[in-house]
Amino acid sequence: MESILVLTHADESGSALTKASLEAITAGLDLASRLSAPLTIGIVATDATNLSKGLPCAVLAVSGEAFAQPRYATDAVACEALCRAAQATIVLAPGSSRFARVAAAVAHRLNGLIDTHITAIGGTDTIEATRWFYRQRVEAVLTRDTRPWFLLLDAGTHAPFAAADAAQPALTEIAVELPALRTTVTGIRAPMQDAQTIRPDAKMLFVTGAGWTKKQPDGQTHVPEASDLILGFLRLTGASLGSSKSLVDQGGEGQSVLPFLTHLNQVGQTGATPRHAKGLSTCCHGEEPHVVGWRFIADRRAISLDPNCGWTRGKADVVYVADAFAVIAKVNELLTKGN
Ligand SMILES: Cc1cc2nc3c(=O)[nH]c(=O)nc-3n(C[C@H](O)[C@H](O)[C@H](O)COP(=O)(O)OP(=O)(O)OC[C@H]3O[C@@H](n4cnc5c(N)ncnc54)[C@H](O)[C@@H]3O)c2cc1C
Repeated sequence: MESILVLTHADESGSALTKASLEAITAGLDLASRLSAPLTIGIVATDATNLSKGLPCAVLAVSGEAFAQPRYATDAVACEALCRAAQATIVLAPGSSRFARVAAAVAHRLNGLIDTHITAIGGTDTIEATRWFYRQRVEAVLTRDTRPWFLLLDAGTHAPFAAADAAQPALTEIAVELPALRTTVTGIRAPMQDAQTIRPDAKMLFVTGAGWTKKQPDGQTHVPEASDLILGFLRLTGASLGSSKSLVDQGGEGQSVLPFLTHLNQVGQTGATPRHAKGLSTCCHGEEPHVVGWRFIADRRAISLDPNCGWTRGKADVVYVADAFAVIAKVNELLTKGN
């Protein structure tokens, strides 16, 4: 019989499990009930006592100050100890930067195998893990005989586990011998929240297209105004900022551009394929190489001046044929009043 372990870790505050960890717990619960297999949750954190409250099964923890922050040596030793203690044959873990860094090494230490970017786990007798290849064009279903089998789950593919109560499950601390520590984490240097425009956890994706920098009906460009409207909308909604390729490419062409956009914002065939509940495209034509990046956006809307744009040809659920400058200015005004 399989023995399933879900590896989780605390967020930066140390007081809660990350959302991606809670999603992995949901995946673990589904799989355990389908296979009628035992489930264990492993936690890597400074202190696992509060983090384990309300969890639906026995918990193993490796804790202490050394595990407060991501570091290869300590995270690898912690995950290895948890897998050995649980005698896990199937290990599910969030594909966070913290675990993505160590999971392959841990699988190797245990003579196991790993698959990453898993989006779904199916099967009743066997375990069938699904992932996409070739920029989300080919979906593959994988099965493996090797155990332990590590599956790193893509964020946003499962509902986060929500505890029904704060009951304390059985919690066992696993002692580990700390390896030689060559890396000291002195802190995290991150952009200000306002400057961080790519927000994978946001409910909405806000896409900007090249139209924002093009000549408008008055014959002029209005880039500073576009910049204010876009940043205002992001501040008021907390949306994540995506872009068409044409707009991010303009930086390389020496044209006047929106300085907060980089190629990391690009959505599409040669860009990202983010997952959000809703998407709003503005001043973007909706060509296929762009829209292919919207595969995982559930509700798609677009604002374009062109009634014949790609969005209106069946690619968006709702298209507003309107001037995005006017629409976003009005939306920002309403949101400001509502706040
Ligand atoms: C191999 C290959 C890979 C590619 N990969 C990608 C990719 O990953 N991502 C990507 O985005 N593209 C990609 N492209 C490019 C893609 O085909 C399009 O060229 C690009 O998406 C067009 O960007 P756009 O819609 O912003 O610009 P445009 O085509 O210039 O469209 C601008 C739109 O803005 C509208 N507009 C102007 N002013 C306003 C206003 N005031 N209000 C409302 N609407 C207004 C216009 O009517 C127009 O529809 C790829 C192309 C190739 C060949």
